[in-house]
Amino acid sequence: MQYQSLSQVQFDLTSDKISLPNLVRYYLNQIEEKENLNAFLSVYADEALAEAERIQAKISTKSAGRLAGMVIGIKDVLCYKDHPLQCASKILDGFESQFTATAVQKLLDEDAIIIGRLNCDEFAMGSSNENSAFGPTLNPIDNDRVPGGSSGASAAAVAADLCLAALGTDTGGSVRQPAAFCNIIGLKPTYSRVSRYGLAAYASSFDTIGTLTKSISDAALLLEIMAGHDEMDSTSSKKEIAKYSEFPETAEALRVGVITPNDQNGIDPEIIESLNVQVQILKSAGHKVDELTLPELDYALPTYYILTTAEASTNLSRYDGVRYGYRNENAHDLENLYKKSRSEGFGDEVQRRILLGTFVLSASYYDAYYTKAQKVRKLIQQKMKELFKNYDFLISPTTPTLPFKLGETVSPLEMYLADLFTVQASVAGIPAISIPVAQSEDGLPVGLQIMADFFREDKLLSFANYMQNGAIITK
Ligand code: GLN
Repeated sequence: MQYQSLSQVQFDLTSDKISLPNLVRYYLNQIEEKENLNAFLSVYADEALAEAERIQAKISTKSAGRLAGMVIGIKDVLCYKDHPLQCASKILDGFESQFTATAVQKLLDEDAIIIGRLNCDEFAMGSSNENSAFGPTLNPIDNDRVPGGSSGASAAAVAADLCLAALGTDTGGSVRQPAAFCNIIGLKPTYSRVSRYGLAAYASSFDTIGTLTKSISDAALLLEIMAGHDEMDSTSSKKEIAKYSEFPETAEALRVGVITPNDQNGIDPEIIESLNVQVQILKSAGHKVDELTLPELDYALPTYYILTTAEASTNLSRYDGVRYGYRNENAHDLENLYKKSRSEGFGDEVQRRILLGTFVLSASYYDAYYTKAQKVRKLIQQKMKELFKNYDFLISPTTPTLPFKLGETVSPLEMYLADLFTVQASVAGIPAISIPVAQSEDGLPVGLQIMADFFREDKLLSFANYMQNGAIITK
């Protein structure tokens, strides 16, 4: 079956070439056959089939929503009423969502079908999907390798054709990096473009809900439907929603800035080479391309990790063994109950970040770390604003390396470096997308990251479409 986009599905549905219940059966079958990937934590088979019957009837009477035929998986950090939510953590054992996230509800309202809940790094902290209490997800392209993270299973499920699209979340690269590792498209919108209501918080001033898809058109349509102000999230933007799904052709000569790291140590030569190829393609098509070295960039990664761990340490204080999920049954007093439940319920990486965050927020270090990082964040945001006065887009590799082997990256610091190129857009809050552009000698995928100015997802999607159609190279 292997559909690449919703428009193909809808074409076949309306011309009676397939039925929606059969399409859902196909995906359920795929999920079963590729169970070894460990992508889905729950599969809502009966519900999805019942929904398929209901929506099929609407298709026959031409009253179906815009997403009729869209079968999606959702990352295990997004609330879906009366369904399990665990953030891939033991601490939320047995927890069920009390309400549905706004972004998810908007998709349901347009007749999307949710087929299940997808694995991820615990509380979305990680770059490989290895930090899950449910075990790692495998990369469908090479099962010895990681799919990236934290939305690793969202990317793996789409790449392996277990669903047409998936929702992920991107705080520092968690949609873009796994998209690059799994050879698909990952879109992170501008911070505040999509309501965060019903998204289990990691770092509230960075968290965004993004999409993993095989086509730019699906990314655009899903964003168009999810975007917009929500009274349940006061930080969500009231800015008008552009018609993302009608992206125009990129016609005029563009100004593109290429971000190259100040220190190319640790960056795979094949990644640099594929970036250079893209630059050549853009130049020969008549676009103005400048190589930029930004000293500010050296500070994006430490800024990101200081601020996100600080926010995580407060956000995760609610998991105390009393109100949700897992509780140690042998504690004799309240303090011990907290301590034991939290040290048994949270995995190592989450505990490391809570400790780091508590440290940078402690009275003696608050100014030295937290306040300073806030100032640097402001400087990086200003720098981005300035750059977008001169450039339509900034491009960079999505990741410094090719998908790595499971268990290969052992030091936390090494793992944090996987976010080298993606954290910049997250610290600034601008939209960014990863598209597949090349394959390594060994057949591993290479992604290209494109960043645009605040709220210019319309331009970003048009340009990504142009790059995909006109500029793809495969060795
Ligand atoms: N890998 C990054 C981190 O661990 C990004 C995570 C994310 O975007 N959720 O923080």
